[in-house]
Amino acid sequence: MRIRGAVLRAIGAERPFARSQPLELVELELDEPGPGELRIRIEAAGLCHSDLSVVDGARPRPMPMLLGHEAAGIVEAVGEGVDDVAVGTRVVTTFLPRCGECDACATDGRLPCERGSASNAEGELLGGGRRLREGEHEVHHHLGVSAFATHAVLDRRSVVPVGDDVPPQVAAVLGCAMLTGGGAVINAGKPVEGDDIVIVGLGGVGMAALLAAASLGLGRVIGVDAVPAKLERALELGADLALSPDDAVAQGLRAPLVIEAAGHPRAFETAFALTAPGGTTVTVGLPHPDARSSLSPLAFTAEARTVIGSYLGSAVPSRDIPRYEQLWREGKLPVEALITSEIGLEDLNEALDTLADGRAIRQVVRL
Ligand SMILES: [Zn+2]
Ligand SMILES: [Zn+2]
Repeated sequence: MRIRGAVLRAIGAERPFARSQPLELVELELDEPGPGELRIRIEAAGLCHSDLSVVDGARPRPMPMLLGHEAAGIVEAVGEGVDDVAVGTRVVTTFLPRCGECDACATDGRLPCERGSASNAEGELLGGGRRLREGEHEVHHHLGVSAFATHAVLDRRSVVPVGDDVPPQVAAVLGCAMLTGGGAVINAGKPVEGDDIVIVGLGGVGMAALLAAASLGLGRVIGVDAVPAKLERALELGADLALSPDDAVAQGLRAPLVIEAAGHPRAFETAFALTAPGGTTVTVGLPHPDARSSLSPLAFTAEARTVIGSYLGSAVPSRDIPRYEQLWREGKLPVEALITSEIGLEDLNEALDTLADGRAIRQVVRL
């Protein structure tokens, strides 16, 4: 079928993106869903830092690519062998499908699926190959999804069904920001009664981590970021305290669980400095491959410290998304608060500037 979507043709466009227009809205041909696949009509798709990282070249991907991976939509057609998701069901897309058969899939989310990682790197669906064409040329899928479009064909394992009562924009954000930020706290951090939880870096993932931390009702939840507007926002989202990195260190703040969600080596050092003796630092940010941090090895030993790397929230989407869905339903996880604006597909280039400038948490495309 013919669809419309936002295609990136080359990485490394100059800023402002509103002028260089790296994403081009074009008509494409979308194949029918093959065995084990389904087609959805996209209802909402969030703009995530991982989209920006492809545009600016921080995480290079094969070109051309139809971006977007944090989305919700309605199942319109199912391929052969898909018998557990009916047409008409609302689903959340997930950006790293789990094949369920490799060694990594047996690690309870600690390691990303080997096949899923490989197909994502190739810009293919989990079952192999691409379903998108522009004229003669194949267009790559972004993280097995490609959601900045009217429709998408995905592997069954790239979606998780949700209830009709979950609004599309909320469902979309469950699939990436919430899965990653919430997972860093719950899956990797495993906080216990009375634990204070500090979140360093308050972008989409950091704010989602903050919401998840607050939903647990343990100790205090403390947001740390250098941008004053984000500290105000953190307090609105339920943080008990919000501090700049300098203030947090100067005040001697130390907590048993500190989440680093900025993807910057200085933020990692701050998170480590704020972790209490015996405590755990979880790093979920994705810094540039050349980034280096300076830490005291003695602090690990003398203070019996733990540092955990949580790749994409150590998530098992089919297990975790229903958990966040239920917390949202109970009013404990106000995911709506992460959405700072709703935009159209034609607004994506400007929205990339807004994201790069740190002026938004989640901008969600509505279709
Ligand atoms: Zn994302
Ligand atoms: Zn696997």
